[in-house]
Amino acid sequence: LLAATDSSGVASYHQVLDQQSLRRLQLGTELEQAMADGQISVVFQPIIDARTSDIVSVETLVRWAHPRFGAIPPDEFIHLAEQIGRIGPLTDHVLDLALARCRRWLDQDIGLSVAVNLSARCLAEPDLVERVQRALRRHGVPGELLILELTEGSVVDDSVRSSTVLEDLHALGLRLSMDDFGTGYSSLSQLRQLPIDEVKIDKSFVLGMSTSQGESFIARSIIELAHNLGLRVVAEGVEDELTRKLLTEMGCDKLQGFLVSRPLPDERLESWLLARTGVRSAAPGAQHRRL
Ligand code: C2E
Ligand code: MG
Ligand code: MG
Ligand code: MG
Repeated sequence: LLAATDSSGVASYHQVLDQQSLRRLQLGTELEQAMADGQISVVFQPIIDARTSDIVSVETLVRWAHPRFGAIPPDEFIHLAEQIGRIGPLTDHVLDLALARCRRWLDQDIGLSVAVNLSARCLAEPDLVERVQRALRRHGVPGELLILELTEGSVVDDSVRSSTVLEDLHALGLRLSMDDFGTGYSSLSQLRQLPIDEVKIDKSFVLGMSTSQGESFIARSIIELAHNLGLRVVAEGVEDELTRKLLTEMGCDKLQGFLVSRPLPDERLESWLLARTGVRSAAPGAQHRRL
């Protein structure tokens, strides 16, 4: 809150909210309705196998098309949702949209894995595992096709409790991915004790690789150490051909970034898939193709 000051320099009794606080306040009160109104949607960013360039999964990224403010980036409203205690419903909404799409791809004979970001706060929700399980059942999607991306802070904060949550999630058959790796405080040895399947090298390192040897060295170290622990490695933020080449030579397993594709709305992802792999709706009863 800022105290308004009149021309004589004396603070008035009015208190005015600065623009930004006002916007946050408004977004906070509108979030729930925005989900109901369909303002909150998702886009999907393809992730490819570094060696074969086959698409292996897509990451679900949330978007808010606000009627007055326009496109609001997730970095602005995810944190807000956490602070006002609405991250649970928002996560359920995103999971629902992602699994509905995944189901539809399955019906088109496309067995495409879908990754959903899980906020640190979600791991503390006592009914998380049950909600994820119910969502999978409701959509008829096998757990093997779901990947949950966690951030480092979330599993290190309360590692004992979260490790049982992670074990329970893993038991549903889904895969766990450590997002933004290298920016937090976890060590790879901590990862060894958790049921994590893959790490995603944070894009801050990947973006600098084509120009900085230091960043390349960090990427190489993460890949080697992760492989020694039996983990797969995804690089996010791959924007240029040189970076793709370097990462592939280093043995990085999967690539994600603007070089491959920007995040796409569902219809555009389907045409992207079609153009790239020739995948089209298959005859009923055909075997699911695992991409
Ligand atoms: P993230 O999970 O690390 O997602 C990757 C971000 O990098 C996305 O930003 C993506 O658009 C961007 N990106 C991908 N490739 C490139 C590239 O080549 N260059 C550059 N410069 N950027 C690239 P986005 O969609 O703005 O999302 C930002 C963050 O918001 C995500 O980072 C994630 O932490 C969070 N987020 C997004 N959707 C959700 C969600 O449904 N739930 C939760 N809890 N968090 C979400
Ligand atoms: Mg992510
Ligand atoms: Mg990330
Ligand atoms: Mg990130």
